Amino acid sequence: MRLKNVPGSREAIAQSRFVIHDPQEHAGSWAEVFGRTAPLHIEIGMGKGRFLMEMAALHPEINYIGIEKYSSVLIRAIQKMEERELPNVRFIRMDAEEITEVFGPGETDRIYLNFSDPWPKDRHAKRRLPSRQFLTRYEKILKPEGTIEFKTDNRPLFDFALEELEPAGWEAEEITFDLHADERLMQGNVMTEYEARFSAAGNPICKYIIKKKKDEGT
Ligand code: SAM
Repeated sequence: MRLKNVPGSREAIAQSRFVIHDPQEHAGSWAEVFGRTAPLHIEIGMGKGRFLMEMAALHPEINYIGIEKYSSVLIRAIQKMEERELPNVRFIRMDAEEITEVFGPGETDRIYLNFSDPWPKDRHAKRRLPSRQFLTRYEKILKPEGTIEFKTDNRPLFDFALEELEPAGWEAEEITFDLHADERLMQGNVMTEYEARFSAAGNPICKYIIKKKKDEGT
């Protein structure tokens, strides 16, 4: 993603009531932040928040948290929330590497990864959000039956993500290499900003839904 510095974004984020500024303080008690107990779904690398906010409007019974590393991007999501406030959405500005400090064990029901940065150099593989290193982090914060949904138009990144499943102890419930041609998996699909752009350009969209393999003998 090309990042433009947005003047004043850090200050605006610091003052925003939609952003949780001390997320570690809420590990294990996110229900209190929302004022209700409800399933918790998070999107990591949410960008400008189109997907997260559309999902939240469609599913008011779910609590949603959007995680974004860069202020210059997060500010766009905050501006959208100012236009249309959704009670079941909060944002965190953080690097996903710290995710296990921010959510309690088994606190999360679902994680969305959408059009994650590819980090094409081999030596950067562990920075890719669907890497085995990140899967190990996600496992800690997800419920045992929790799922991860990943979409991308980047085929090498998707192939890498599929190869990471077995060594990390995960299995796919669904895999498609052309989501938009799959009537069943398209039901309820909400497009992300990148998805709208790349599918309009003719790129097929890959998607998986994965869950942790059960320990043998259980
Ligand atoms: N999900 C959006 C979409 O599909 O339109 C944005 C995709 S954009 C290519 C990837 C986003 O992930 C960027 O906004 C980037 O700043 C964010 N990101 C990348 N690595 C991250 C990390 N380690 N922690 C949090 N956000 C991250």
